[in-house]
Amino acid sequence: VSQIVVLGAGYAGIQAARALARIGRQHDVTLVDRLPYHQLITQLPGVASGRIAPQKATIPLARVVGSPVHLLSAEITDFTPAPGVLTTSAGPLEAHWLVLALGSVASDLGIAGALEHATPLKSVRDAVHIRNRLRELRATRSRTRVVVVGGGYTGTEFSGEVTDASLSHRGDGSISVTIVQPDNRLLPQGSVKLSRAIHRILSRRGVTMRFNAWLDRVEEERVVLESGDAIPADLVVWAARTRPAPVARPVLSWTPEGRIVVDPYLHAAGSPRTFVAGDLAAATDYLTGKPLPASAQVAVPQGKLAAENIVAEMEGRRPAEFKERLLGEALALGRHDGAAELTGVVTTGRIALAVKRAALLRYLTRLGGSDLVREYL
Ligand SMILES: Cc1cc2nc3c(=O)[nH]c(=O)nc-3n(C[C@H](O)[C@H](O)[C@H](O)COP(=O)(O)OP(=O)(O)OC[C@H]3O[C@@H](n4cnc5c(N)ncnc54)[C@H](O)[C@@H]3O)c2cc1C
Repeated sequence: VSQIVVLGAGYAGIQAARALARIGRQHDVTLVDRLPYHQLITQLPGVASGRIAPQKATIPLARVVGSPVHLLSAEITDFTPAPGVLTTSAGPLEAHWLVLALGSVASDLGIAGALEHATPLKSVRDAVHIRNRLRELRATRSRTRVVVVGGGYTGTEFSGEVTDASLSHRGDGSISVTIVQPDNRLLPQGSVKLSRAIHRILSRRGVTMRFNAWLDRVEEERVVLESGDAIPADLVVWAARTRPAPVARPVLSWTPEGRIVVDPYLHAAGSPRTFVAGDLAAATDYLTGKPLPASAQVAVPQGKLAAENIVAEMEGRRPAEFKERLLGEALALGRHDGAAELTGVVTTGRIALAVKRAALLRYLTRLGGSDLVREYL
């Protein structure tokens, strides 16, 4: 019996485990995560602003991954490529085949004070912490100054959510938001058109955007830029670039950006029984050769393909290349507004919001059918 182990129950890992469950009971499949639930990370900006209840961003693993997959709630503490024995907080775990899908973690980018004085937005726990802190601040101050470090997807969505006027409660103080962005525009990884559309919406909401702004340090109640400018802050939200989960660092080959080198079939370079999916994989677009973004949209089909390729190779068939086309981008900027780009066409407002909602609807339907949709949407 082959032992197939999936590390990480995020967007990639869940799909891998579900695809492996379908191959039947002749193999032993284990899904390992430190958390007993799957996090809907794409909903976190809404949780942090208080629009979405935290329970709507966590799905118990047992609801979406059933028998014959074994669920193991444990921390991976030492990684060995397959075939080998991994070290987990629940003891050693043998793997003949592996799907490595541990995602990414917030990176302090070496900025002094970031870990002490800023809150990342990478987990439901982080989002709840931000929501509670905002509530506390708004109840006691006439104006709460929020500095968002990073103007990528996380930073812009959070800024849009938190400045949504419909979310303010009577008697609460106002919020001012400043985005500190090292690039010369928002969403530098997206198109200029989409970036401009979001810029317009956030400007209308009074968000201050500091472009080409490099951070020097984060202090108790302010962030200091390299230029010497200091921006006062009651709350600093860290939405700067993430880095891949560090656990597999010493063993596999990594790109300078810190992702694991993979071939078009998602094998880790030099380790043919270890597949990598999601944020950890340095996969490229098969048409353009450009690196694929760290996104749920990429992680989901990669997790599925990694599992299918394991099955193919176990059965002596050829694996398939990763050839998924990205549909576009959609961001929620509060209860009534959003921005989206599909096949080069940029839309804003409720239509854009509907696109984001449709992506969630599709994902939930895939995971648990109409029951899950009713409960989580
Ligand atoms: C705020 C925010 C909003 C986003 N919005 C979007 C969006 O709208 N659309 C989009 O496409 N993408 C979005 N993304 C990106 C998307 O969330 C990631 O690309 C996606 O989660 C990557 O999936 P993954 O499976 O690689 O990792 P994850 O989903 O992060 O899953 C990794 C799993 O591994 C577990 N894990 C990690 N280390 C260990 C360990 N040592 N031991 C045990 N378990 C471990 C974690 O608990 C986690 O469950 C967003 C990201 C953020 C932070």
